Amino acid sequence: MAKEKNIGNAGWHLENSYKTLPSFFYSEIELNPVSEPELVILNDALAKELGLDADVLRNEHVVDVFAGNEMPKNGAQIAQAYAGHQFGYFNMLGDGRALLVGEQITPDGDRFDLQLKGSGRTPYSRQGDGRAALGPMLREYIISEAMHALGIPTSRSLAVVKTGEPVYRETVLDGAILTRVAASHIRVATFQYAAKFGSYEQLKELADYTIDRHYPEVAQEENPYLALFEKVMERQASLVARWQLFGFIHGVMNTDNVTISGETIDYGPCAFMDTYKQDTVFSSIDTQGRYAYGNQPQITGWNLARFAESLLPLIHEDPEQAVEMAQEKLEQYPNYFYAVWLQGMRAKLGLVTEEAEDSQLVKALQEAMEKYEADYTNTFRALAENSRPVNLFFSSSEFKEWEQKWHERLGNQGTSLEDVSDLMLRSNPAIIPRNHRVEEALEAAVENADYTVMQQLLEALADPYKLAAEHKHYAEPPDKGCGPYRTYCGT
Ligand code: AMP
Ligand code: MG
Repeated sequence: MAKEKNIGNAGWHLENSYKTLPSFFYSEIELNPVSEPELVILNDALAKELGLDADVLRNEHVVDVFAGNEMPKNGAQIAQAYAGHQFGYFNMLGDGRALLVGEQITPDGDRFDLQLKGSGRTPYSRQGDGRAALGPMLREYIISEAMHALGIPTSRSLAVVKTGEPVYRETVLDGAILTRVAASHIRVATFQYAAKFGSYEQLKELADYTIDRHYPEVAQEENPYLALFEKVMERQASLVARWQLFGFIHGVMNTDNVTISGETIDYGPCAFMDTYKQDTVFSSIDTQGRYAYGNQPQITGWNLARFAESLLPLIHEDPEQAVEMAQEKLEQYPNYFYAVWLQGMRAKLGLVTEEAEDSQLVKALQEAMEKYEADYTNTFRALAENSRPVNLFFSSSEFKEWEQKWHERLGNQGTSLEDVSDLMLRSNPAIIPRNHRVEEALEAAVENADYTVMQQLLEALADPYKLAAEHKHYAEPPDKGCGPYRTYCGT
């Protein structure tokens, strides 16, 4: 009895609006309890934002919630259905290893999904075991929290528990469950599922629910579904522009990993780029480079086209007219992307005014960076700090020529050097989750149950625009001798 009481006192304030949708959209699932759950990391700051009491959450009984052994009051206990394109091929998917605990209503009245990732088999598991390994769940925790601190919309990570049970991949690994927090888990693939397998009514119910939850302002529009498409396009364009600006490579931009809210979701083989190179791919399964850094904006366009297709019956009753209307909107996508991206690049270079030649200025910089294998993050940061490290890039004639043009451009805008410097330091992080540092933290945690390395890394990543003396080593790129970094989906 004490157990239930403690769980009840953590500050849960759960609702389950998703369950107002037809049961076609989800499956009620049985819990799959694990034998020895152990809380290995808890996000105190996020708990607070959610209105949860971190001290109570640390209570030994509450770990049962994070382990999926027990549901808090009003827990939803469902797996969501979806179907979408993986590397261009359509598949029936769904939460094969996740369960939605419910929607936590925060003290500010906001609504966030709490989802357990790695919580066991569901009707959508196909051949999978429904489980997740400790390393990848901690990796998601680190990178999603880093993204948040950088100011990139993202799902977040509240807690990781070790299950005390093995998971079998290429080797035997420790099982773990991540509590993921997101504005919602409605994806392009949720709409594709409704369009492919559902009725017109079901598709409409999903769209109306989504509008109500994320874009209530479009309900009043003459064509709310076309307006919904445009909103999502705007958010996704802005999201992928930010990924480009920070050198983030998602790695698996399948339509099930594209949220309607515009948050980054599903951290699998993602990684930040060190050396600037448009065709960078980290994921071992992305053999064709479909999701390479330079392809990401185009792929978002492709994913948005799949979203538009699924909305067609709602956009207009005449299919041809619907296609025409959706097409007309979709054609705007490159402009949406480019506007956010260019504005972001201007900020990175301290430019507050707009000149027609700005895109040329950025392009010349990128070309020189790629030619001289410059570190993406550190090159911009050096410009912001007005330092010129000794390396091939900064000593090249291309850079010197570029620098002169850039200085002229800055001079013409009539802004004080101080303002330019402020803007640049706010727009160019010093610290990103560099792959070698993430690996080092994961190794200590997974191999030696030493979480201090990860805690220190998280602390540095929480303040990415400052470079405290004790965090300097996090800003250093890996040794070139390390060879190309590879990420694995072996989650
Ligand atoms: P992801 O690559 O994480 O986006 O997952 C793609 C699909 O595979 C989703 O439907 C997941 O639920 C499912 N999936 C991934 N890993 C597992 C697993 N270990 N067991 C069951 N389903 C899984
Ligand atoms: Mg996914």
